[in-house]
Amino acid sequence: MVEDNPNQKELEKMAVFCSKYNHIFLYGYDYTERMIAKYMKMASLTIDGYVSDNIESVNDELQIITFDKLKSDYKKSKVGIIVSSGKDEDVLQIKKYGFKHIFVVDEWNRRTIPYKMTPRSKENFWVEVNLADHCNLNCQSCDHFSPIAEPTFLDFDQYVKDLKRLSDLTDNKIGLIKLQGGEPLLNTKLIDFIRITREIFPNAFICVFTAGLLLKKWGNDDNNNLWKAVKDYEIEIRWTHYPIPLKFDEIRKTVESYGIEWWETPPPFEKGARVWFFSEIGALQYKGEKHSVKHPFWTNGGVAPFRWISCYQFNESIVLRDGRIYTCPMIPYVHFFNDYFKCNLEVKEEDSIDIYKVESYEEIAEFCTRRVPFCSYCAVHHRYSRPWKQSEHTIEEWTENPPFFGDSINPILSVTGHELMLLKIGLTSLRDNGIKETWIRTKRVLLKKY
Ligand code: SF4
Repeated sequence: MVEDNPNQKELEKMAVFCSKYNHIFLYGYDYTERMIAKYMKMASLTIDGYVSDNIESVNDELQIITFDKLKSDYKKSKVGIIVSSGKDEDVLQIKKYGFKHIFVVDEWNRRTIPYKMTPRSKENFWVEVNLADHCNLNCQSCDHFSPIAEPTFLDFDQYVKDLKRLSDLTDNKIGLIKLQGGEPLLNTKLIDFIRITREIFPNAFICVFTAGLLLKKWGNDDNNNLWKAVKDYEIEIRWTHYPIPLKFDEIRKTVESYGIEWWETPPPFEKGARVWFFSEIGALQYKGEKHSVKHPFWTNGGVAPFRWISCYQFNESIVLRDGRIYTCPMIPYVHFFNDYFKCNLEVKEEDSIDIYKVESYEEIAEFCTRRVPFCSYCAVHHRYSRPWKQSEHTIEEWTENPPFFGDSINPILSVTGHELMLLKIGLTSLRDNGIKETWIRTKRVLLKKY
């Protein structure tokens, strides 16, 4: 869920801690430590192994050593220890051994880092499919790039082939299939897509996301009636409430006349014929003004590798497109951004996985827990929500300029704007006045952030 993302500020503190010491060990060897170690390796953070007095021998690429060995083989001042499931007594114990550099992972990240690093079970595997890449609403900063997408529909035969392959790989056990877009109701084969999805996955929870502009039209179509399909194939329609003039009450009456449930609070997470009318998919209980999230790119890349795990799409909004699985929607649809703005955000082979080359479902689930090269374009730490409005098709809706000194976690190199000014003032003062005092003051201001 969206609320299961690691806290970026805490990750920054951990990254700074790792950068300060030559050797970093995790205290203990439970599941939490192993998942945090997995994250740290992908995030290119220093990690030497685990320190524990209770483990005999295990098969792990990282070493596991005792405190006695740590004391004899390493200089204490060069070692940092991360505590991620220990308690206050453990921190005291580590200090008794003479190690003073300790970072305690906060409760939130102890839970959310392992959550994001854990491969999903088949039953909890969710897959998204764009039935139409373009849209009829034109929202600013859309993370599928629909306002700037050329009209494009999903290839029906390829979809059927891909679903059958996923069915074989998962023993027909995918938890949730989301038919979306763009605006899926623009696809004239919508009912065929719904029917075939249900035929291939008879037990899956299937839903169709829509902005609702075409609901009335589909509801009035006698030969291809959406509400009949919802009822027959037990589909949930997820209707996002945008501030646009639609005949909501009239549509609701039609829905209910088909015996379809109408929900304005989160409905049961299971197969069923219903309409869920909601404001924000990222805040399930929220009712009120619609917002849009800006997901800025740094078009030259360079976002520090430790950041990506806070991305709410990562290992969550998993996309199926043309025989490949992507860990998020930004990658498969970025070609629309590249074409429209004449950019070249590179998508590599390693940014997705070919479902026809894998040998098992587990390979796909493991892939979805990995940071991919494309993540270096996503400034996840600068995402923010603002009131919804329509897109003006400017590149600024999807980009921002990176800080002057890049995304280094070194406090001196990561200064930007105001801090850069302070640094300049500090350096000028260094030149003009007594060196030591001014330098300390400047350094204090820069370090405050961390
Ligand atoms: S590329 Fe990485 S950081 Fe960007 S949306 Fe996808 S998973 Fe998230």
